[in-house]
Amino acid sequence: MSVVYNFCAGPAMLPTKVMSKAQQEFINWQNTGCSVMELSHRSKEFMALAAKAEADLRQLMNIPVNYRVLFCHGGGRGQFSAIPLNLLPENGHAEYIVSGSWSKAAAKEAQNFGNIRQQNVVDELNGRKVVKPFEQWQVSPDAAYLHYCPNETVDGIEMFDIPKFGDVPIVADMSSTILSHDIDVNKFALIYAGAQKNIGPSGLTIVIVREDLLGNARINTPCILNYTTSAENDSMYNTPPTYAWYLAGLVFEWLKSVGGVSAIENVNKRKAKLIYDYVDNSTFYKNTIDPEFRSRMNVPFWLADESLNDKFLSEAKEQGLVALKGHRLVGGMRASIYNAMPIEGVEKLIEFMQSFEERNQ
Ligand SMILES: *Cc1c(COP(=O)(O)O)cnc(C)c1O
Repeated sequence: MSVVYNFCAGPAMLPTKVMSKAQQEFINWQNTGCSVMELSHRSKEFMALAAKAEADLRQLMNIPVNYRVLFCHGGGRGQFSAIPLNLLPENGHAEYIVSGSWSKAAAKEAQNFGNIRQQNVVDELNGRKVVKPFEQWQVSPDAAYLHYCPNETVDGIEMFDIPKFGDVPIVADMSSTILSHDIDVNKFALIYAGAQKNIGPSGLTIVIVREDLLGNARINTPCILNYTTSAENDSMYNTPPTYAWYLAGLVFEWLKSVGGVSAIENVNKRKAKLIYDYVDNSTFYKNTIDPEFRSRMNVPFWLADESLNDKFLSEAKEQGLVALKGHRLVGGMRASIYNAMPIEGVEKLIEFMQSFEERNQ
């Protein structure tokens, strides 16, 4: 079979080296004679793996010591409930910034748990989508926290600047941008990410939470959503998703081996620039997001003639370029180009886009 480049938004492709290593170790991990997925999470071998994965993630993201790293179940959406349950007092309120469909979904879920003030921050300027400057966001200083989504996976809108409003704790859904570029963790109270975009397979969710925020969960918070319970039990209050944790550990090792986050950030910038430049210079394709807010991870683009969509997708697939169909909410195409997507995949996509354009002018 010739090489396939998978542009799926999630679950997304994993680095080939990681997949090969997992395959080699599949039925006999570290000479245990067992697969890692068959071992007790409390065995000394698995505990060592778990600790190493956390240490590697801490090193990659430069996570300060006063933050806990939790390996959770329940995906990004599990956190949509866990965050208000853990951080929003019954009589408090939280600010939810809406910049696309995921932040909107987070706000909707949070409304089940208390007073949520929701505001849309996306404007249209000269036919392009922009995010309103922070000065125009309405954030009251007594908010329990501010929730936002730095990278909107569906809409292809990314914010690279980090909001700051006095001491209001900043909570970020980084599901589709974690580890794609360097960030200062100190600027966040809590970061969370479903693993299936940039970390590993689905089933694992990473939560990075400042220690002083623990201990305030609502009394009726389910234990598996309670950060304090997770932290006190080293993410092993119940059986963690062990195989996903193992694969995440391999991805962290791989990322270190290619130079860490700042090295991959450079590659990610190059990949995204290649596609956006090509799209901007063509009248056949378009992207309607202001360059300042274009996602480096999820690149939506539209054919000027949408009747060619199906033809585009089926011919792309024949070339080994798969999962390019845009999300049903926004239509068109979407190329998700997370850390694991090599630059060759992006080059091949552009070559195809160019030849498709020439043949269908
Ligand atoms: C994929 C995604 C989610 C949802 O994650 P699940 O694990 O399916 O619950 C949430 N937020 C963002 C930004 C995402 O990209």
